[in-house]
Amino acid sequence: MTKDWKTRTRLVHEGSRRSQYGEMAEAIFLTQGFVYPTAEAAEARFVQPGEDEFIYARYGNPTTRMFEERIAGLEGTEDAFATASGMAAVNGALTSLLRAGDHVVSARALFGSCLYVLEEVLTRYGVRVTFVDGADLDQWRAAITPSTKAVFFESMSNPTLEMVDIRAVSDIAHAAGALVIVDNVFATPIFSRAVDQGADVIVYSTTKHIDGQGRALGGVVCGTQSFVRKVLEPYMKHTGGSMSPFTAWIMLNGMATLDLRCRAMADGALQIARALEGHPALGRVIYPGLESHPQHGLAMAQMGSGGTLVAFDIADGKEAAFRFLNALQIAKISNNLGDARTIATHPATTTHQRLPQDQKDALGITPGLIRLSVGLEDPGDLIADLLGALAG
Ligand SMILES: *Cc1c(COP(=O)(O)O)cnc(C)c1O
Repeated sequence: MTKDWKTRTRLVHEGSRRSQYGEMAEAIFLTQGFVYPTAEAAEARFVQPGEDEFIYARYGNPTTRMFEERIAGLEGTEDAFATASGMAAVNGALTSLLRAGDHVVSARALFGSCLYVLEEVLTRYGVRVTFVDGADLDQWRAAITPSTKAVFFESMSNPTLEMVDIRAVSDIAHAAGALVIVDNVFATPIFSRAVDQGADVIVYSTTKHIDGQGRALGGVVCGTQSFVRKVLEPYMKHTGGSMSPFTAWIMLNGMATLDLRCRAMADGALQIARALEGHPALGRVIYPGLESHPQHGLAMAQMGSGGTLVAFDIADGKEAAFRFLNALQIAKISNNLGDARTIATHPATTTHQRLPQDQKDALGITPGLIRLSVGLEDPGDLIADLLGALAG
């Protein structure tokens, strides 16, 4: 669409298609398939579908296509493919590309299911995987060799909000001929400029900020047209991980307010981090937007924001952390993120429960660690809630 549109205009209009009725809101094309006017037309479409011609919803659908165009426009990539969940996107991006004998280098600090795909699934099919400390460029340099096909990392890690330098890792990877695949969920498509910084393929769980209201699972892979349509699409459309049209409609509606929501949440996160820093009941307060964060400079250069999550360590450990969680009035105990509702998570006993202790230690997942996904409530109310719960 129009190349010089700014983000907020794109988020409302990009990719829109209207039927002969001229409906205002995006239509949900809740149909598995499409009727061909003639047998010749069916044959021609199976040879090569034209622009805006569809065959079967597993391959593509007008509502899903609107969402793909809108997110590709936002991300600055040529194309995108929408998937049934964030994990269908991560699995699709990696599995469609890699073959037995290929080598992948990945950051170690990963969402648990991403770790499963790399450690358990890919290795089963003869892909070699090397894990590195994502913040240590020397480890990336040592691990990436000319036989490395791809690198994978979360640009901001879960739950300790460690940043990976997209530009620096992409330069190292590209010098070896490897493709850079970034899971960009915590950075959000609003704060990230991953493509400008060298990423080739960008993956989102749209379950998080893009829906933003905790309604539906979804995912998307953004990249060049040749990666999305020649490498990824054949794999996705034949293995069944496509996004449903109804989910795409939810995500399209989420996109319209995405910029406003992410900025409001990040403003709230900064206010909360400042209010908590130095509290006597807390050890570390981790927020990349705080000057005290060791990667504050990188966060500002890479995202221009500290993002929408804050992590902090309750000094007295698990029991004190549970007392704190149980005393919260506004923030909800759950494990999603990017929701309009503020969500508090205790990673050591939930999202990261199954990690062995040595890996929890290595990732900084202490017994008192709380991950807070800041929502859209009034930041003053949230600060009062958090300070009240800390006071017991
Ligand atoms: C949630 C999440 C995923 C998985 O997304 P689903 O939509 O739950 O499948 C992958 N990576 C990161 C960083 C996430 O936060």
